[in-house]
Amino acid sequence: MDYVSTRGASPRARFDDILLEGLAPDGGLYLPEHYPRLQREQLQRMQPLAYAELAFEVLRPFVEPMPAQALRDSLRRTYTAATFGSDAIIRLQPIDSRLTLLGVSQGPTLAFKDMAMQWLGHLFEQALEPSGGELNILGATSGDTGSAAEYAMRGRRGIRVFMLSPFGRMSPFQTAQMYSLHEPNIHNIAVQDVFDGCQDLVKAVSADLEFKRRWRIGSINSINWARVAAQVVYYFAGYLRSVRSVGDPLDVTVPSGNFGNILAAHVAREMGLPLRRLVLATNENDVLDEFLRSGVYRPRSTEQTHHTSSPSMDISKASNFERFVFDLLGRDAERTRRLFEQELARKGCFDLGAEPAFARARQGMASGRSDHATRLRTIREVWEQSGVIIDPHTADGVAVARQHLEPGVPMLVVETALPAKFDATIREAIGRDPERPQAARGLEAKAQRFVVMNPDVDALKAYIASHCAA
Ligand SMILES: *Cc1c(COP(=O)(O)O)cnc(C)c1O
Repeated sequence: MDYVSTRGASPRARFDDILLEGLAPDGGLYLPEHYPRLQREQLQRMQPLAYAELAFEVLRPFVEPMPAQALRDSLRRTYTAATFGSDAIIRLQPIDSRLTLLGVSQGPTLAFKDMAMQWLGHLFEQALEPSGGELNILGATSGDTGSAAEYAMRGRRGIRVFMLSPFGRMSPFQTAQMYSLHEPNIHNIAVQDVFDGCQDLVKAVSADLEFKRRWRIGSINSINWARVAAQVVYYFAGYLRSVRSVGDPLDVTVPSGNFGNILAAHVAREMGLPLRRLVLATNENDVLDEFLRSGVYRPRSTEQTHHTSSPSMDISKASNFERFVFDLLGRDAERTRRLFEQELARKGCFDLGAEPAFARARQGMASGRSDHATRLRTIREVWEQSGVIIDPHTADGVAVARQHLEPGVPMLVVETALPAKFDATIREAIGRDPERPQAARGLEAKAQRFVVMNPDVDALKAYIASHCAA
């Protein structure tokens, strides 16, 4: 399988080439040149498979030319009961007669990002082993991505993580989750700036190609294709374990920020998984809801981005969205390039509302937005009706899902985090604390290890170089 850029001006690449890359050289994003298509009989055969075996079937075409055995080993090591809490790996939890949570937050950091990141940890280590090579992962986080990356890479041979976070701006739980790691290969760098400032530093370091090559720096941010691919698997598992027979209709609602998670649902459907409708849920930062309602994509500025009680969805622009637009436009790379390179730069937005392709895409999708009051009310209602406590992001999903229920079609809502991670909002909603998984108890009391740094590219480079050489 070759990968092509959404802007059409980058050389074709293989899975290994793009594993550690962010943008393609032409500024676009890599996608497989086509989506493998699975027939109904194949899906039926996949229905009883254990998670790792299912993942093998789904991912095999994407990772070529990786040997089948290497892929299988990496998946069997990743998707274990020890890491994800049960042999099922995912959890299907009904909250009423029509809505079921697709629980993908059973991993070590209590959010769905573990599902992909844990696999990357095994994959990288496996790739480095024969050569004894080294890899330095540089990233910025506002909370969930950084901890998922650190828990996936902690203690792995040949790998270091340099994770930038905005000093004093994460929740106490998120801060403790990251900063309480003491493995020498994990470097928590608390930057005296907001998240966007952290991301700018990462971009500045990555733009220095000589530095990047010299210190073998890679990234695993939200546009990383391997992360999207790994997330495709849980839509297969969720569907195949929910329906009586393959072909039965099922809708799915995805709480969305950077469009990564719902892109994975789109890919699963393109591969032949009979998901009927994909419903996208946003919080007050409703860039994507606006697009699906009107066809207008209008990224916001940092100042226009709201700080909400579902903070992992507080985005100003959706970094994976270009992949979806490329597909929507029938993979017209020239059009995609014009929209993202020229129209966005010139006008700050583009409008696909009059496109027949947009109308077609709308038939298989829906969207809605939630806000703080809706979020709290939804957490309270679900708790009172079913005894289940849901996290604020999942609550946005449930609230929007309820606006889009149709007779005879069950709905999955992706549970993107466990409530323990956002307990202040849970207390505000229902006046009590959510239960904490055993491993997360007493987290805030543990000693924390991090360095504080000014937003200074040279200081960051010096820090990285000195810790790589050591
Ligand atoms: C990352 C995250 C999201 C948003 O996912 P995208 O792939 O960026 O759309 C939603 N909820 C939680 C809890 C997250 O950590």
